[in-house]
Amino acid sequence: MMANDFRVTLLGTGVPIPSPDRFGPCTLVEAGDQKFLIDAGRGATIRLYQLKLPIGRIDVQFLTHYHSDHTSGVPDVWLTGWLESHFGTRKTPYRVIGPTGARELIENLERAYALDIKIRVADEKLPLSGIATEVTEFDRDGVVYEKNGVKVIAFEVDHGDVIKPCYGYRIEYGGRVAAFSSDTRYNQNVIKYGAGADLLVHEVASARPELMREAYIQRIIAHHTTPREAGSVFAQTRPKLAAYTHIVLLGSERIPPPTIDDIVAETRQTYGGPLVAGEDLMAFDIGATVSVERHPSRSPPKA
Ligand SMILES: [Zn+2]
Ligand SMILES: [Zn+2]
Repeated sequence: MMANDFRVTLLGTGVPIPSPDRFGPCTLVEAGDQKFLIDAGRGATIRLYQLKLPIGRIDVQFLTHYHSDHTSGVPDVWLTGWLESHFGTRKTPYRVIGPTGARELIENLERAYALDIKIRVADEKLPLSGIATEVTEFDRDGVVYEKNGVKVIAFEVDHGDVIKPCYGYRIEYGGRVAAFSSDTRYNQNVIKYGAGADLLVHEVASARPELMREAYIQRIIAHHTTPREAGSVFAQTRPKLAAYTHIVLLGSERIPPPTIDDIVAETRQTYGGPLVAGEDLMAFDIGATVSVERHPSRSPPKA
């Protein structure tokens, strides 16, 4: 049975904007009996709850980089996942794999929440095993996880000269591949590690030309990939499906942000293949083909 045994769900397709429509960056990957999160931005636990997936079922938390919008949901996944209620249930350590910096983040969270942990152990008799952490750091491209036929390969990307480290992931399972760009400028390593991917999930950022005159907008866009550039990545990697997440649409009080239709149209200047603009809770089943499923809670697409 190949169906539904390799599935990617976008839990948060947003950016630092505290939008109720696009939560912070977080992607769920289910491969066989294993479940992984890539990043955990704002609202990650809410999206898991909507999927009726107990937080404690997550086997490994992968991190891409340390911008807070990608990690602000980490303490929530860690702590709420420990609760005994049906939405929590973790009895084994919270396992984290990320580039250098993961240990500092987790150790400091343990310090920050020490009193809560002490209280819940005394009051609710929660097992210490479920709040323990197990952190693995890496500092170069390569395999960072391998178990039961799932292989996870980290690859460095380019999110800007001082935004380091920053890594994307390529996940292989049963002869199929899902690749995730993380936050990056147009980058050859995404093309290298995205090669042969069934599903390539890429970030994108855009602003209207009038707004591109502003220095702060130029700085933001310079840390990301434009739709034209992302189209070029897709054209070179030729995935069965290309999907956008981490959708940065910049506007100002005077100049409205580009629309999803705008970024798709701009992508079409360089890429003619299968493409979908992600939304929260959109899921992809990776079988012989890659199918797309919108969550029933999302409003119907505009005509
Ligand atoms: Zn970032
Ligand atoms: Zn980001």
